[in-house]
Amino acid sequence: MMKSDRPIIPAGIKREVRKRCGFGCVLCGKPLYDYDHIVDWSKVKEHKADNITLLCRLHHNEKTAKLLPIERVIKANKYPINLKRGKSTPHLLHYDGENCAAVLGPMEFTFELKLENDFMIPLIIDNVPIIQFRRVDDQLLLSLQIFDNDNNLSVQVIDNEIWYLAELWDVDLVGRELTVRYQLKDLLLRMRIEVPNKISIDRANFCRNGIKVDINDKVFFLSNNNTGFSDITYTNCLVGLALGDIPDALPYALSLGAERRPYIRHSKTEEATYSLVRKEE
Ligand SMILES: [Zn+2]
Repeated sequence: MMKSDRPIIPAGIKREVRKRCGFGCVLCGKPLYDYDHIVDWSKVKEHKADNITLLCRLHHNEKTAKLLPIERVIKANKYPINLKRGKSTPHLLHYDGENCAAVLGPMEFTFELKLENDFMIPLIIDNVPIIQFRRVDDQLLLSLQIFDNDNNLSVQVIDNEIWYLAELWDVDLVGRELTVRYQLKDLLLRMRIEVPNKISIDRANFCRNGIKVDINDKVFFLSNNNTGFSDITYTNCLVGLALGDIPDALPYALSLGAERRPYIRHSKTEEATYSLVRKEE
């Protein structure tokens, strides 16, 4: 069949399918997937959301090879695994090397992680690292957590494994760019996974423990204090920007306390799991 016979799937239909499938392969929940016509395109010759599902490459190949029965796909499409569990299946990102860099809008943080257990935390809020690179067993590990405006953990990377909530409004991973939306024109996060050693947060709009952060290409803005940062580069600072409660044991480059907005506090157990800094053994 000629490629030109087949129009591309409109963005709105793709978005509808993504959401209905919990932003992952309906069988295994992986975030890298194809838009698959359950009944073949060659038979239906139309793009209808009801007939499109998400399948990872492996499951897509199995379906094409008829190793995966269509009945099984229909069932999984009805009960996508990510929606059952409430979150996506973790996916390994290929970070590696000694140098690392994190970009937060106009701010850039770089570090040379020469020794075992060296680390860099570009942003920390209330003693909870939001982004962290560390070197363990000669490997570069990225950890990151993004909370939404209601203080819910929405996207997390733990030691290079990324997952996100399945009930967000939209999550779209295209190539190396991950976009998370509250609404069509309302971004929670846009970040680029620049493996092997860099993460760039181009846009973000979140509120962690009542501390409201807005990031775009011009400014890193703290709404509580009406304070913005732009064009700052930090090299080899253990902790770059500390917001909220001041870290007690770590040296930091810049800190800002803030009058908080009202927020729902996390439980002690949750807070403990959000702490990405490995405790001294
Ligand atoms: Zn799959």
